[in-house]
Amino acid sequence: MSDYDAIIAGASFAGLTVADNIDGDILLVDRKEIGTKQTSACATFTSVLEEVGCKNSILQEFDTLVLHIPEERNVELVEPISTFDYEKYCKTIAGRLKAKILISPVNGVSGQTVLTESGNFNSECIIDCTGWRAVLGSSLGKGYVSRDKLVFGIESEVNYADDKLHFFIDPEIIPCGAAWIFPVGSKSRIGLASYAGKTEILQQLTQFLKGMSLDPEDVHGGYIPLGLREPVMGNVFMVGDSAGHATPTVGEGIRPTVYFSKECARIVQNIIDGDKTLKYGLGEYRKIVDRKKRGYSMLMNMQGRLMNDHVPETIKKAACSRIFSKLFQRMYIGI
Ligand SMILES: Cc1cc2nc3c(=O)[nH]c(=O)nc-3n(C[C@H](O)[C@H](O)[C@H](O)COP(=O)(O)OP(=O)(O)OC[C@H]3O[C@@H](n4cnc5c(N)ncnc54)[C@H](O)[C@@H]3O)c2cc1C
Repeated sequence: MSDYDAIIAGASFAGLTVADNIDGDILLVDRKEIGTKQTSACATFTSVLEEVGCKNSILQEFDTLVLHIPEERNVELVEPISTFDYEKYCKTIAGRLKAKILISPVNGVSGQTVLTESGNFNSECIIDCTGWRAVLGSSLGKGYVSRDKLVFGIESEVNYADDKLHFFIDPEIIPCGAAWIFPVGSKSRIGLASYAGKTEILQQLTQFLKGMSLDPEDVHGGYIPLGLREPVMGNVFMVGDSAGHATPTVGEGIRPTVYFSKECARIVQNIIDGDKTLKYGLGEYRKIVDRKKRGYSMLMNMQGRLMNDHVPETIKKAACSRIFSKLFQRMYIGI
């Protein structure tokens, strides 16, 4: 006997998008208040923010990305990218949800039962959107989260204004990693990430900021799992960071998370409506994710080369030629 039509664990980019696209009796569980404890630099294509009805959260929009590899190159973006306010984004979606929201840590899953610190709840459709820890998936398979496939990033929001996005591959700033400056009006989110998952990178961030006569404030961040994981664990749909949906090399997770969340929600809706069985739906979701495997492994290869502080020729070419850059960006967006 099900308590809910669907149970979603985690209420950030993945969980909110899934909940927003299902009609039914839904339970959405997160351990923290929705829209709090931002980890991301929150930059994505403006079209994504339009698609999810969160244009109101935009802080600044850009048509140029400056690549520092380490030579500086201006790349004209094929689609504008915006930085946005995480709290506003999450609260905009949460405000229109009909789902029941429960603030409580989730501990795992057993059959059709989701185990939380506020009791256990049953559903045929269970979706793990708990981020890199993949709390439900991990409770079903111990090795699900591979520690050697985690990138670690931190950033600080400081008083620095700019009209361009900046992305750095420069061993002088961070070896085996990347850095960024993402402006948000009168301030900027300035951060760096270690592809090797090194967590002691505050000193490098401090140095990077010092070079701009800035000091770190309110540092936040976390892990980004790179490389697709199993999209289905037992009877659980894995979505967003829990399934390794961020793209290797750039660690762009919001756009792919929204894409896979909507696909997952469509399938779950079919199951709730009785048009598909759970088994069929899980298989269909797996196929959708598997179709993207080639693109992800190509980007993973590229990241492997960046890990040796060697910028691949494709990126250099894309940065130098306007036509090649546009083709490269279109191909990237298609992954
Ligand atoms: C420093 C940094 C900068 C980044 N910048 C960008 C960027 O600019 N653009 C971009 O596209 N991507 C960026 N990313 C990646 C992007 O943030 C992630 O891919 C994205 O957040 C994935 O969304 P998600 O909903 O799957 O996971 P998360 O956003 O991690 O959300 C997981 C949710 O699950 C909840 N949760 C976790 N454990 C439990 C539990 N036990 N019980 C209940 N709830 C739980 C959490 O509280 C959280 O709300 C960045 C990542 C980092 C670390």
